Amino acid sequence: MTPQNILNADLHCHSVVSDGTMSPEALAERAKANGVELWALTDHDEIGGQHRAAAAARAHGMHYLTGTEISVTFAGETVHIVGLGFDPDDAAMQQGLRNTRGGREQRAMEMSDSLAKAGIRGAYEGALKFVGNPDLISRTHFARFLVETGVCRETSEVFRKYLTEGKPGYVPHRWASLQDAVAWITSAKGVAVIAHPGRYKFTPNEEYALFTEFKSHGGQAVEVVTGSHSTQEYVKYAETAIEFGLAASRGSDFHSPDESHTDLGTLPFLPGHLTPVWELLEDRIR
Ligand code: AMP
Ligand code: MN
Ligand code: MN
Ligand code: MN
Repeated sequence: MTPQNILNADLHCHSVVSDGTMSPEALAERAKANGVELWALTDHDEIGGQHRAAAAARAHGMHYLTGTEISVTFAGETVHIVGLGFDPDDAAMQQGLRNTRGGREQRAMEMSDSLAKAGIRGAYEGALKFVGNPDLISRTHFARFLVETGVCRETSEVFRKYLTEGKPGYVPHRWASLQDAVAWITSAKGVAVIAHPGRYKFTPNEEYALFTEFKSHGGQAVEVVTGSHSTQEYVKYAETAIEFGLAASRGSDFHSPDESHTDLGTLPFLPGHLTPVWELLEDRIR
């Protein structure tokens, strides 16, 4: 495959293996129909869908990179690190992700207790109905339950009123360290990518520290064009990519046809002066 910027790559989305609503196979079909040429499924803290996604991509004649999105705690905030092109059978990576997922069950029960105090009962059981992978109960599943029961009209409203810092249902959680997440990915021959940097509530100093430490641990790329960024943020993080010598990634962060504003494969291309992350991963593309 010729490495280039004008490529419909979508290297960030979620299936029922984490908090998406579609199967890996259905996502592959949707990506193909939307013109995606290079695809990665990046479930949260989980690579259990990778072999299915790769097989489905192959069946559609679509190029594929393995993917995941690792939850990390940095400077007291949750940061997401996408991994691309790693060996999905790498034992250290599998164990690290298993440990990261480990706290979710307990956290979910505490979230449910917290929501009960705000008058919303049965949230744990309610959220479980939406869970595709028992190892991966997430805030998104609670959000779907609160929409189903009519507490909120849509999931974004749930996050605004519940489940975020200072709101009922929010339970702080300690995820993986930045250093460990980058090490799992790079040791498994993948490339680590800072996901949607525009979403974090960091001061300029904290953001500088994130990029500096990420680089020092061996991180190589940043999402520039993502469904989570405004057009101004494409420009801002294109400059950040150049400043820190990082390659650039592109991905919709698609979760569900009913919830996601950005569909698979529909974002603008990467700015032409950036090095696309897939150029670093030529020999990992399947
Ligand atoms: P968790 O890993 O359980 O903390 O859940 C994080 C997930 O919640 C993210 O990956 C998003 O899918 C979803 N999420 C977080 N904030 C929002 C928001 N403001 N609106 C919609 N979904 C959100
Ligand atoms: Mn998600
Ligand atoms: Mn994310
Ligand atoms: Mn995501």
